[in-house]
Amino acid sequence: MAGRTFLGTVRLALLLAVLVFVALGAWLDRRRSTDWDDTLRVTVYPARADAAGAATPCAANVDASDFDDAASFLAREAAAQGVALEEPVRFRVSQAAREPPPALAANPGPFSVALWSLRLRYWAWRVAANDPLANPDVQVFAVYQAGDGRHAAPDSTGLQKGLIAVAHLFCGNDAVAGNAVVVTHELLHTLGATDKYDRSTGQPLAPEGLGDPGLSPLYPQATGEIMAGRIAMAAHTAVIPDSLDQMTVGPGTAREIGWLR
Ligand SMILES: [Zn+2]
Repeated sequence: MAGRTFLGTVRLALLLAVLVFVALGAWLDRRRSTDWDDTLRVTVYPARADAAGAATPCAANVDASDFDDAASFLAREAAAQGVALEEPVRFRVSQAAREPPPALAANPGPFSVALWSLRLRYWAWRVAANDPLANPDVQVFAVYQAGDGRHAAPDSTGLQKGLIAVAHLFCGNDAVAGNAVVVTHELLHTLGATDKYDRSTGQPLAPEGLGDPGLSPLYPQATGEIMAGRIAMAAHTAVIPDSLDQMTVGPGTAREIGWLR
């Protein structure tokens, strides 16, 4: 009996040690990725097939230039917030993800979200291990679908503690600018940024979700805050931006991602 108790204690201690290591590792990764001493390296992995195994229409045509808008937006906004780094974020595209990442169940409870996030981390770690290119700081898994961008894609997700994001994007040259908005929003989630819109209506929160909170009259806004995702036309209406040219990084988001201290 005593041996069994001893083994049980050892098992519990090991489990606790693993949990502490995972938590500490996540904390260190996150700290390192938001110190802005050096360029943050982001790899976008287009899924080459959908969940049913059918080839994704455009994954093979995606290249790093599709994210030039996102890189220059982040450089411009970081400079505006006083970050002295010429290239704060660099995007690369890897074809190392054959299938889309594990999907989250519909209407998930807290337990299934936790389980899904562990599965996603393990899956992401395996993709990076099979990638001949160097491991990035942040992994963005991009699931592309054909379409004109006006039909809603499933919600994209940025894991705050795993430096992993899943972005649902559209194929085609017309969609590149809109895709850059989605990828940038999800990337900033992985760095600790929170949403700045009303979850029930999608309306940007005022003032933190507005591109220009000092505008008088307040509406219509000409720009939107990247974590609000939309541009507020009035207190209860908002439009989806065409490109990152219409977006900003507000002081709230800048503080969350370590640009402002
Ligand atoms: Zn969001």
